Amino acid sequence: MRIVLLGPPGSGKGTQATRLAQRLGIPELSTGDMLRAAVSAETPIGRKAKAMMERGELVPDELVVAVVAERILRPDAKNGFILDGFPRTIAQAAALDDILLTNGLNLDCVVELKVDEEVLLGRILNRAKEATTNGQTARVDDTEGALRIRLDEYRRQTAPLADYYRAKGILKSIDGLQPVNKVATSLFEALVA
Ligand code: ADP
Repeated sequence: MRIVLLGPPGSGKGTQATRLAQRLGIPELSTGDMLRAAVSAETPIGRKAKAMMERGELVPDELVVAVVAERILRPDAKNGFILDGFPRTIAQAAALDDILLTNGLNLDCVVELKVDEEVLLGRILNRAKEATTNGQTARVDDTEGALRIRLDEYRRQTAPLADYYRAKGILKSIDGLQPVNKVATSLFEALVA
């Protein structure tokens, strides 16, 4: 199955993508993780993306599309994948359609996690605090300033994707404010329904 998970920062997308990937035995492809790895490794892409990511802005489409195009064609993604954090703009969605079409593939389902915006800020700031308490390093973009920009980018650039996929007839929406296990169940049910 080829799945896209859509949802704002702090919606629990990453947690659900990891669980679902295990359950379905297909890889989770998180562009956030891929870009953070590129930043750590100081690759050319990482060097270009670093400052924008720290500010909470989206990195340019062509950069992310290149990363994803290479990744989804690797052998481990042959039988399917879960995209987490991509596409995030209409241009990225169109690029994904092109890549899939060129390779004779298609998207099976796009699941949108619906979450109340006010809850998000609290969730993420809490995640940062927990990380610090546990002696881990909080993400550099989990600060209030960067988070506001991430939410704003989501509202402006990513939220319109729900209509894009609804028009294609492959959008499912689930309530992301339920407890983690319930979201996982709803997500799975949405996929098999
Ligand atoms: P979030 O918690 O905001 O959903 P992610 O881990 O998915 O965080 O992404 C972190 C950052 O990586 C984003 O704020 C953005 O700078 C960059 N990024 C990730 N995916 C994309 C994408 N598809 N297009 C542009 N930028 C992206």
